[in-house]
Amino acid sequence: MTHPTTQSGESDLIQVPLSALEHYAYCPRQCGLILLEDAFTDDAATVRGTLLHQRVDTPGNRGRGNVRTLHALPVWHDGYGLTGICDTVELHSDGRILPVEHKSGRYHPGGPADVQAAAQAICLEEMFHRPVPEAAIYSAADRRRHPLAITDTLRTQVLELADAVRNLHTTHQLPPPAADSRCRRCSMATGCMPRLLAGTRRYRQALTDLYHLDDLQDTDA
Ligand code: SF4
Repeated sequence: MTHPTTQSGESDLIQVPLSALEHYAYCPRQCGLILLEDAFTDDAATVRGTLLHQRVDTPGNRGRGNVRTLHALPVWHDGYGLTGICDTVELHSDGRILPVEHKSGRYHPGGPADVQAAAQAICLEEMFHRPVPEAAIYSAADRRRHPLAITDTLRTQVLELADAVRNLHTTHQLPPPAADSRCRRCSMATGCMPRLLAGTRRYRQALTDLYHLDDLQDTDA
């Protein structure tokens, strides 16, 4: 996966927000709706998430014991074309740097939050010139921190997702709907109409019935 650079040596890549990686990992169409159609919608879960983030989105720098905690830290990686904001970054006196991503919902190992936290770690490595082999996801649902190893597999996944998001920007093609269990937890479901667009038999029938006047005419007769 090589990426182009300009003559000055700067990256020529479309910048990909770290949040877009998470959206794409959850559902490519969700990412497309947000990036291409500016269609982000809130639901109870996203409002909960926003309220949670208000606590960590105020830029700041707090020290406690052997740890200095940075909040709402802007990060980027020019070479990979990544940019975003870390909820919380802990700078430990032993040299460890730990990004902590805050989520309002339950933690799902191997899920989209892992990708976002790994991307933060990759950016922090670039900015602090130091390895960041671990991150953590804080889940408000169980009030626990879930440690995450930044493996090579996860690093590759981040870069592949970044390319996929860039491809969305270039082609302007909205990915097809997932139309599966993900849609039940998706705030975009109303505008996305996944099952209708996926053309499942039940919804095709419902659509046909909606524009059918025969029943009504039979009743009137
Ligand atoms: S409703 Fe389903 S298909 Fe549509 S964006 Fe959400 S998860 Fe993807």
